[in-house]
Amino acid sequence: MKEIDAHIRFQKLIPKFLADELNYKNLTAFVKHVRTCPECMEELTIQYLVGEGINRLEEGESFDLHEGLEEKLEAADDRLLLHRIMQTLIITAEALGVAAVVIIAVMVFVL
Ligand SMILES: [Zn+2]
Repeated sequence: MKEIDAHIRFQKLIPKFLADELNYKNLTAFVKHVRTCPECMEELTIQYLVGEGINRLEEGESFDLHEGLEEKLEAADDRLLLHRIMQTLIITAEALGVAAVVIIAVMVFVL
């Protein structure tokens, strides 16, 4: 029963994921779960097709469903990685002081 609850919980997050509205904590758990859960990945694929896919088809663009969704998941991975890097840099900055903050400000600007 607990297993099923987890799926329902993640499947409720799908619309928010598709709208890029998940916070860092939920996004981390969500991406990790759908990557390993065929059931939730299937649900995500369906909702993605219904939303984004149909929009694109209406606009007359050619549309590769799996590629589009994979790009979205990879974009989420990139965001999470960047978040982790920033967290690490912030902690480092606190340890190193003002000089590091300046370096990070420059890096953020470049990124
Ligand atoms: Zn699941």
